[in-house]
Amino acid sequence: MVGQSNILDKLKELARNLWWCWQANVIDLFRELDPTLWRDVDHNPVEFLQRLPADQLERRAAEMALDSRIDYAFRRLSEYLKSADSWGAIHATILRARPVAYFSAEFGLHESLPIYSGGLGVLAGDHLKSASDLGIPLIGVGLLYNQGYFRQSLNADGWQQESYLNTDTEKLPIEPVLAADGTSLMIAVETATGTLHARLWRVEVGRTLLLLLDSNVAENNENDRQLTARLYGGDARTRIRQELLLGVGGVRAIRALGIRPSVLHLNEGHSAFATLEKIRELMEETGLPFGEVQRDVAQMTVFTTHTPVAAGHDRFPAQLVEEHLGKIREALNLSYDDFMGLGRVYPHDLNELFCMTVLALKLSRYANGVSALHGVVSRRMWHPLYANVPEEQVPIGHITNGVHVQTWVAPQMSMLFNRHLGVDWPKRQRYADTWSAIDKVDDAELWETQQVLKARLINFVRARLAAQAKKRDEPDSHFQRFATVLDPNTLTIGFARRFATYKRAGLVLQDIDRMVDIIKNAQRPIQFVFAGKAHPEDRMGKELIQYIVKNAWDDRFRSNIVFVEDYDMNVARHLVQGVDVWLNNPRRPQEASGTSGEKAVLNGALNFSILDGWWAEAYDGTNGFAIGAGTTHASIQVQDERDHASLIDVLTNQVVPIFYDRDADGLPRKWIARQKDAFRTLAWKFNADRMVMDYVQRSYLPAAGGRSCQ
Ligand SMILES: *Cc1c(COP(=O)(O)O)cnc(C)c1O
Repeated sequence: MVGQSNILDKLKELARNLWWCWQANVIDLFRELDPTLWRDVDHNPVEFLQRLPADQLERRAAEMALDSRIDYAFRRLSEYLKSADSWGAIHATILRARPVAYFSAEFGLHESLPIYSGGLGVLAGDHLKSASDLGIPLIGVGLLYNQGYFRQSLNADGWQQESYLNTDTEKLPIEPVLAADGTSLMIAVETATGTLHARLWRVEVGRTLLLLLDSNVAENNENDRQLTARLYGGDARTRIRQELLLGVGGVRAIRALGIRPSVLHLNEGHSAFATLEKIRELMEETGLPFGEVQRDVAQMTVFTTHTPVAAGHDRFPAQLVEEHLGKIREALNLSYDDFMGLGRVYPHDLNELFCMTVLALKLSRYANGVSALHGVVSRRMWHPLYANVPEEQVPIGHITNGVHVQTWVAPQMSMLFNRHLGVDWPKRQRYADTWSAIDKVDDAELWETQQVLKARLINFVRARLAAQAKKRDEPDSHFQRFATVLDPNTLTIGFARRFATYKRAGLVLQDIDRMVDIIKNAQRPIQFVFAGKAHPEDRMGKELIQYIVKNAWDDRFRSNIVFVEDYDMNVARHLVQGVDVWLNNPRRPQEASGTSGEKAVLNGALNFSILDGWWAEAYDGTNGFAIGAGTTHASIQVQDERDHASLIDVLTNQVVPIFYDRDADGLPRKWIARQKDAFRTLAWKFNADRMVMDYVQRSYLPAAGGRSCQ
């Protein structure tokens, strides 16, 4: 039937552009066609359409009168793709002929495309989405990880188990990039020990193109075929080869597509080799010497550093660098020592490892940290590289991270904004005026919206816990318990992030007896939802998970502390949309920015956080809660003790009393006032549109301007 295939074609078009994943209406369409299958395929519309029987599609579409909605969604996508009316069309015209190339080792766009591990990836995904919404010409460059990051489960002892699933490329929203002759377009990078090959895939993210390099091709040996299988697995050699592919391979991939970027944006140091390949390319083209071309490439390069901990920066021994970059070094006419010097703070210190951050800083004119405080920390950390200037003048600025609003806001909250901020609020999200209208919202309406979201979270957690227990073969009595875990009327605190030690997931449970008193208070109880993965090699991180989980399973805490396994963007969405309070207690100043708290803001949760990262510049005394006074102590132990004391103090004397202080209508008026403060003072600023606009105005345009005269 013509009509039916037409519907299927349109759905397929919708599925292959990730635009759908920030369109609540389109997500509803898929879900309503078959809710169970939609969940079973992990919200992956490509696989969903492959598995949905044709007769069912037809029947459901007719039953639910979905035809017109599918038509409408399809039309909206077409219009979005064509639209010339964007902020970028006015403010970023010089990027139109030559776009920004944005390099990142991971991209977190949606849980169904598992090529991310955590915050860095989600930030990159949000960057692409906002670039698309704003009409900024930008191409993402990354790697296709067939197995992605690991999937997490817990054994009966509460110990993290890792498993890796091979994703079938047929089920991903990706398409091979083809050469003129119809074969897969390939790129190659020569090393001293053989040539690395990769094929290219394309992902449509609204109007933005994401290119992914994939080493799983017949031209590679078995080892290299596995090179891009996993994120952050393997040893230094695997890592430098991945980074070679990302940086050097990435520049070649863009060239193979016939695109000449005007800006290279390195999202973290992993991709810093891109600068060397760009210099090589321009030297070959122009015949100019290294020194001159180096200045030009630095002029067009933007580098964002994300790591406030010295040990967290990628460093490689010289022989690994020579093995992989030796060919390029020769083309650059550089001696071994001069080349290694590019990766060293002290170029002549032969003991210094080759540091990707140092390379990136030396070869970029525009460098930034990801919050105001992180800017300060980065200038201090890298001051030795700029010996002749005072610390405040080290040329590393900051652009604070933001989140893609329509990805992270709950549909119910978005509808509330539609009613009170005007339906075009997403386009005006970066202006403070837009959000001041939140004061007009009726307290009860805001509160009820949040109650609905909390109920959704609780249902989600109960189902997850039951499934987790089933996998562990736990007795039936446990399932029954999970069916009633968490109470919708109880103050609910979320904590979810990587279990890196500095994030101190155990801080809140440091004094267990005290916490039992607080949690089980008969009038004013609280409950916690935890989630997060520890890196497979991070024993201390896994011990922290076990500590939380053992407490969650302890009879004293049962039903008031839960741990949701396998933290990913789906779990993150449920958590940030459903909790009352978002807790973050890193060891200051190690949280470069943090973004999960910004997602919580959009859904009415109040941040309860150490004054670190974005929160250090966001907290104004009434738009959430602060732990500590923004100080650090030379002794980690003292710092942890102080922060713990402050956490308990603020929790028991502010958070809990304000939440439970109800008026005659049963509403916590002071709490709601803080929620409104948070929307009004934070939402316009800590979103990805504002972030991308900052990049355009402060980095991209100046970087592109410098090259446009050539
Ligand atoms: C947002 C997000 C993060 C980053 O959270 P932080 O607060 O920056 O630690 C990590 N993982 C997932 C899945 C996320 O959605």
